[in-house]
Amino acid sequence: MNVLIVHAHPEPRSLNGTLKDFAVRRLETAGHTVQVSDLHAMQWKTTLDADDSPHRPPGTRFDPALDSKQAFEAGNQPDDIAREQQKLLWADAVILQFPLWWFSMPAILKGWVERVFAYGFGYGVGEHSDARWGDRYGEGTLTGKRAMLVVTAGGWESHYGPRGINGPMDDVLFPIHHGILYYPGFDVLPPFVVHRTGKMDSARFEAVSEALGQRLDTLATTPPIAFRPQNAGAYEIPALTLRADVAPGQVGFAAHVETPAVT
Ligand code: FAD
Repeated sequence: MNVLIVHAHPEPRSLNGTLKDFAVRRLETAGHTVQVSDLHAMQWKTTLDADDSPHRPPGTRFDPALDSKQAFEAGNQPDDIAREQQKLLWADAVILQFPLWWFSMPAILKGWVERVFAYGFGYGVGEHSDARWGDRYGEGTLTGKRAMLVVTAGGWESHYGPRGINGPMDDVLFPIHHGILYYPGFDVLPPFVVHRTGKMDSARFEAVSEALGQRLDTLATTPPIAFRPQNAGAYEIPALTLRADVAPGQVGFAAHVETPAVT
């Protein structure tokens, strides 16, 4: 497989940096081809702003969505954005690797998403009409590719448990899993999460690396999270609420994941 690792940590000798290097070695040893977008090393421009649309007529108001659309369609996006889109098209699997900062991804990675998932590439794909809300949530430019988060967190596993004070980790990561990765079409694998990073020593690091290695070994075969596709009948059009007979009475993030039929 072709694997793209998008890595967001400012310190190469950090836990994240070391795990990223481990992942590259493990994947290459297994015969995969790996590219790494090391956002800090690349000095990635974080903010989506008017500098991303240099071809706008002078004096016009900057419109982040429409200017992104025009630049994407005209082929005059900034080179850094176009290069990352090419890497995504090249990849069979994409790993986003980052420390959990304020319950989400570091700003530099969010900025990568905002700039690279351009209008026409990450969103605004397919027919948009009264009868259809485009190709998204299970369909889109990145359909057929797999994505997985590798996340480190200072909090304990129990803090992110079903009744933990931080909220369940599946809920914390839902906006990334569903809103960022499933939206443009990825099959999203269960995340690899390292909790309680402040309690790391060489023995635990070995165990964590081996557990990550096993997830990388099964990157092509691990079943994805069973999010409900937008355009397969589970949602009312145009409200995009779940049909009354789908997960009746269930609300919140979990309602958008199919539960296996009880046999
Ligand atoms: P590092 O600090 O580099 O390392 C962590 C530990 O692992 C250290 O003890 C280090 O010595 C050890 N280590 C590193 N490499 C090795 C190795 N090769 N072998 C053995 N030991 C090793 N946490 C939450 O749970 N929720 C949040 O919302 C949250 N928000 C945060 C916001 C900010 C701005 C910051 C700075 C931290 C936040 N944290 C939060 C904590 C954060 O998630 C952790 O600090 C982070 O995940 C640790 O990853 P790191 O790569 O920076 O680890």
